[in-house]
Amino acid sequence: MTETVLNAEVVVLGGGPGGYSAAFRAADLGKQVVLVEREPVLGGVCLNVGCIPSKALLHTALIIHETQEMAEHGISFTKPELDLDKIRSWKESVTKTLNGGLSGLAKQRQVTVLHGVGQFTSANSLSVQGETETTVVNFQNAIIAAGSQPTKIPTFPNDDPRLWDSTDALALSQIPKKLLIVGGGIIGLEMATVYHAFGSEISVVELMDQIIPGCDKDLITPLFRRIKKQYKDIWLETRVTAIEAQEDGLKVSFDRADSLSAGGIPTVPGGQGKGAPESELFDAVLVAVGRRPNGKLIAADLAGVNVNEQGFIPVDKQQRTNVPHIFAIGDIVGNPMLAHKAVHEGKVAAEVIAGHKAGFDALTIPSVAYTDPEIAWMGLTETCAKQQGIAYDKAAFPWAASGRSLSMGRKEGITKILCEKETGRILGAGMVGPNAGELIAEAVLALEMGADAEDISLTIHPHPTLSETFAFAAEMITGTITDLYIKK
Ligand code: NAD
Repeated sequence: MTETVLNAEVVVLGGGPGGYSAAFRAADLGKQVVLVEREPVLGGVCLNVGCIPSKALLHTALIIHETQEMAEHGISFTKPELDLDKIRSWKESVTKTLNGGLSGLAKQRQVTVLHGVGQFTSANSLSVQGETETTVVNFQNAIIAAGSQPTKIPTFPNDDPRLWDSTDALALSQIPKKLLIVGGGIIGLEMATVYHAFGSEISVVELMDQIIPGCDKDLITPLFRRIKKQYKDIWLETRVTAIEAQEDGLKVSFDRADSLSAGGIPTVPGGQGKGAPESELFDAVLVAVGRRPNGKLIAADLAGVNVNEQGFIPVDKQQRTNVPHIFAIGDIVGNPMLAHKAVHEGKVAAEVIAGHKAGFDALTIPSVAYTDPEIAWMGLTETCAKQQGIAYDKAAFPWAASGRSLSMGRKEGITKILCEKETGRILGAGMVGPNAGELIAEAVLALEMGADAEDISLTIHPHPTLSETFAFAAEMITGTITDLYIKK
């Protein structure tokens, strides 16, 4: 095995969205950069086994659902035929295009990309173990962007190919007849959307008393109502106590969860899970109960970098770890584990290294579940506003009064806005309905710009669009709405 030595002004460990953004920004600021990625391609979990392939499959699922629902509009399609190989290779073509784009962007910036497993050997050196050679990178500054991995439940038969994590689910190796999703969070529900469209019978089991526990219940309700009809079962406040591998399937046992509710209120311990059977047999089980940071896998101690018990690396607003020339960004520094948060943090770290006065001071990080309907929220949730005793005005505009939504055959959507009682300033917003994930960006901008309900309601939104619903919600607060009648 050969050993090469490289010097870098900045080494970035991890080539996901946070890592490559940090590397590219640092290069644009004149730094000589080495980017280390253990996989043979750039893009990390998000591009290769996360956000992007799931969106490619969700688009397919949406088309299947939409064609089914067009019967009510007078157009009937025959049952779609699935060519799994073709769906898979189309999904892969999307990620390959983006992989190619990223290596092109790295080349244009003269960022050296090293493929191999990187681990610290000291506070100024990293060893990168490639397939055939080891490279030692001596660095002046490092940005750790080594991400996270799916949480495994150790008592489950994790080596059984019928027990999936999100990567297995995205591989689309087969369409199981009966699929159980453990965890009613974003990954679980996005994958449920895909496999339901492809013909699996779906059951969901969730520990808490609502799906997507971080989001306000009123925004969840339209999704919950729709999937309750589509899926075989959704068991809330239910724990999986065991999974036993049998020849004819995975036997899953359930019990009532003695969990905290989404509002932090303890639920009654003991007893049977809400409506769940004692046990049931499934052809496949997807475990999507969160992700854990990779902080303990990079020999951070050899660089003197603190890693907490869970594997997170504490950082300050400049993304600096306890070692002043080593920075960390993305999933490895804390929740929410979202690509767009990592990208912003990556740019901050690169700018601080280049001597800029930068800091991560975003007022909010938006969340989106790309389910059908989509759910998106940002800023203060109503649950948090209540918990913190913040005085707010609230409006929720029903999409049943939006011509655009009705013309799409959808009327379950809601656009909700929370404004500070005294000033009218926007505190938070949430949307549920088709394209909610696209619509939330306007609310984020409004929050960052300190807009109040009047600013939003006086901003002319094109008609007829779903974006109008945001202005209508603001008009409900200012009292100027004419598209609804609100009794004084
Ligand atoms: P999550 O934390 O969003 O959801 C996990 C769910 O599992 C929670 O509802 C939790 O209450 C439940 N749960 C935990 N333990 C359980 C158990 N033993 N039995 C039943 N339910 C249990 O995690 P995720 O969906 O795995 O996603 C992981 C991360 O990836 C999150 O940070 C998420 O935001 C991110 N992600 C984001 C997107 C997106 O932005 N669209 C998509 C995918 C993933």
